[in-house]
Amino acid sequence: MPQIARSIAQAYSNLPRPHRVLLGSLSVITLAVSVWRPFIYQPESFDNDADNYIAPGIIAKAIQLESSQLRALTPEASEPLDQPLPDDKIPQDELDDDDKTGADVGVREYVVSTGDTLSSILTQYGIDMSDVSLLANKNRDLRNLKVGQTLSWELNEEGELQSLSWEVSRRETRTYKLVNGNFKESVEIQQGVWHNKLLAGKMNGTFVNSAMAAGLSRSEVNAVIKSMQWQMDFRKLKKGDQFAVLMSRETLAGKREQSQLIGVRVRSSGKDYYAIRADDGKYYDRQGSGLEKGFMRFPTLKQFRISSNFNPRRLNPVTGRIAPHRGVDFSMPVGTPVLSVGDGEVVISKRSGAAGNYVVIRHGRQYTTHYMHLKKLLVTPGQKVKRGDRIALSGNTGRSTGPHLHYELWVNNQAVNPLTAKLPRSGGLAGQDRTEYLAQVKQVVPQLQFN
Ligand SMILES: [Zn+2]
Repeated sequence: MPQIARSIAQAYSNLPRPHRVLLGSLSVITLAVSVWRPFIYQPESFDNDADNYIAPGIIAKAIQLESSQLRALTPEASEPLDQPLPDDKIPQDELDDDDKTGADVGVREYVVSTGDTLSSILTQYGIDMSDVSLLANKNRDLRNLKVGQTLSWELNEEGELQSLSWEVSRRETRTYKLVNGNFKESVEIQQGVWHNKLLAGKMNGTFVNSAMAAGLSRSEVNAVIKSMQWQMDFRKLKKGDQFAVLMSRETLAGKREQSQLIGVRVRSSGKDYYAIRADDGKYYDRQGSGLEKGFMRFPTLKQFRISSNFNPRRLNPVTGRIAPHRGVDFSMPVGTPVLSVGDGEVVISKRSGAAGNYVVIRHGRQYTTHYMHLKKLLVTPGQKVKRGDRIALSGNTGRSTGPHLHYELWVNNQAVNPLTAKLPRSGGLAGQDRTEYLAQVKQVVPQLQFN
């Protein structure tokens, strides 16, 4: 080997100088090209319907390549690392549960739906792939999650996974706690008794107060609001409107442990609205049609190059501190129309320091989308928008290193990766799932009686 190297070196030094220069620069260019692989979004790998994106592995790999060494090579349209974007509070309304202090902080919950895998669920929240592998090796069953099961997990302040709970069934919960760099499994079997309870009442004041007066707990009220979020706005209910809620509650030694919403019926202005739970943990109307409204994957008509990716654990190389990038940056010319990705209500539309002109839209009760560095705002707070509506023109305002759109998607008060997150989809149950659901509806609907 040293001999070969020596002869190559000799041949090289024997070349005339212009040749040496040419050969040298060629090698550098070849090396640069082989290292430089910009992440360009490929439209065919996604479908607008969130369930159908292909090959998440490829995307995850590309995201890793789009990191600091690339940023050194190409000037990217993004935000300076030392300047976090504002963490502006979304205006709360009467339906929001402001009692989120204490045990709930840092705990995330997710109901498994069709096509989900442990890695697709956790990585969209920015959890490290190495943690996912550790978990999957701990219990191989975690590679076979079932639709409707619930996962909840806890992160520390650095965004690192501390524990994961897996509700295998109503009776069995497995917990994986991080101990000395590995996850320790424990199994808990619930001993309680489940029974159904009908709670009915009339609107008198806010829905939250009326429902609690009818005997629902605050978390049960939240479940009702969530189940109906795409078909009705509980703030619009009038005095005297009626509701009936069927809960399944677990009691252990006389104490209520947990509960699950089975079905809800609301009568407003003489019209009845229903949401009934299917085995997938989602709520549908009496025909099994989806109540959720679909989202677009991208907030623009055309797809633009990604100049910086979602990375909640991004490190500032200078300070060594975490400088999360809670959204995706799309490099685009100033003045590109920015579209709302789903039906919703504008909650913020204003100029702020680092974010420049920006818009926040609330979709249902669980989703918000954020659009920053805009040139021109086209909507005002309180305005209702439809999916695909123009809300602004893109720009380069605030702390921005080039014309781009910074786009964030939040689910249950947490930023997720907008490129891989499971999006709300329209559409209902089909085939065997629908048949089973309709049989369930036949059982539940007659029970939803008003007082
Ligand atoms: Zn950004």
